Amino acid sequence: MRIAVPRETRAHERRVAATPETVKKYRELGCEVVVETGAGLGAAITDDAFKAAGAEIAASAAETVAGATLVLKVQAPDAGTETEALPAGAALVAMLSPYANRELVQRLAAANVTAFAMELVPRITRAQSMDVLSSQSNLAGYRAVIDAAAEFGRAMPMMMTAAGTVPPARVLVLGAGVAGLQAIATARRLGGVVSAFDVRPAVKEQVESLGASFVEVPNDEAATAETKGGYAREMSDAYKARQAQVLADHVKKIDMIITTAQIPGKPAPILITEEMVQAMKPGSVIVDLASETGGNCALTRHGEIVEVHGVRIVAFPNVPSRVAVNATQLYAKNLLTFVTLLVDKETKALKVDTADEIIAGTLLTRDGAVVHPNFKEGE
Ligand code: NAD
Repeated sequence: MRIAVPRETRAHERRVAATPETVKKYRELGCEVVVETGAGLGAAITDDAFKAAGAEIAASAAETVAGATLVLKVQAPDAGTETEALPAGAALVAMLSPYANRELVQRLAAANVTAFAMELVPRITRAQSMDVLSSQSNLAGYRAVIDAAAEFGRAMPMMMTAAGTVPPARVLVLGAGVAGLQAIATARRLGGVVSAFDVRPAVKEQVESLGASFVEVPNDEAATAETKGGYAREMSDAYKARQAQVLADHVKKIDMIITTAQIPGKPAPILITEEMVQAMKPGSVIVDLASETGGNCALTRHGEIVEVHGVRIVAFPNVPSRVAVNATQLYAKNLLTFVTLLVDKETKALKVDTADEIIAGTLLTRDGAVVHPNFKEGE
């Protein structure tokens, strides 16, 4: 079985879908691996390092994917030449953002590609090592605090000096999932005084165990705030009004906000309004990690740093790629564990066992059709 690893072509993307370590493991599984020249450079991996691990280096994207049984990518191929270059019948494993890319899903089906979306890996214990959302969000949470600190015109830790005392930065983290919990831990390590908020009441204990305080919003919907999969639901308008009231009071004391609140398949909830930004101290910073799905702050502009009412609102695109070396290392390992499920131990051929809930949960297209129930046409 031939595995292809093309160079990523999207703007701001520095990651790659394999590392020398995972190439070695694919070789041990009985696969050939072809990597496009330069594919690893954004993550500090040279062609020579891939070659030393047993990969073949191809000169172009077309040469890389030609004859491949399995194509590994970080991001979705573009709907044009990248999708057209995929060999009919090949399998594709990547973060395909299927909710945002419904048309691409149809195109992959039409191109007879067997496509797997890594974001759809079910959050069950057996799949933890394949969970790309967790591995990438964790690094994004870390990086968001580093980016906030870099934009903040002040220091984060308290410093008592002969010339006076520097107060610690007060940090608020909105959304305490994987990214938020890492943001809390990172802000604490840098000396911030941290508070956090989430609609899922279960996270209060996790927030407190990291040394942050939990912002309480009276919540009579607590029992229904979390789905079976552990994600948040969209809350009622009455809840949103109570939440806005509590946050409006709280943000006045805050120097730095990291927002991470997401609802799968929906636009991110707006948690910070313009009035709240106006009430913050000049020089404060907001880093919005939810900007790709619209942002948690009403003033966020995806891909930009804007300053409004003296507050800097930061929304870098593709934050995990800002820590490309580690993000690649963890993503490639996630893919390796997933791909191991796709390789038949005896024949070493590609095997799509839809009786496995991880395979069935991630499989978008097969035999020329969209097969995932959430993405069939008209649904
Ligand atoms: P996510 O990226 O979908 O959302 C980030 C956070 O935003 C979540 O904690 C969510 O509750 C919160 N949020 C949504 N709407 C909000 C609002 N209006 N106000 C405030 N906060 C809001 O979530 P995630 O980081 O991917 O994690 C979701 C859950 O899955 C967590 O419980 C996490 O621990 C769990 N998880 C489980 C596994 C596993 O068991 N294998 C792996 C990873 C994560």
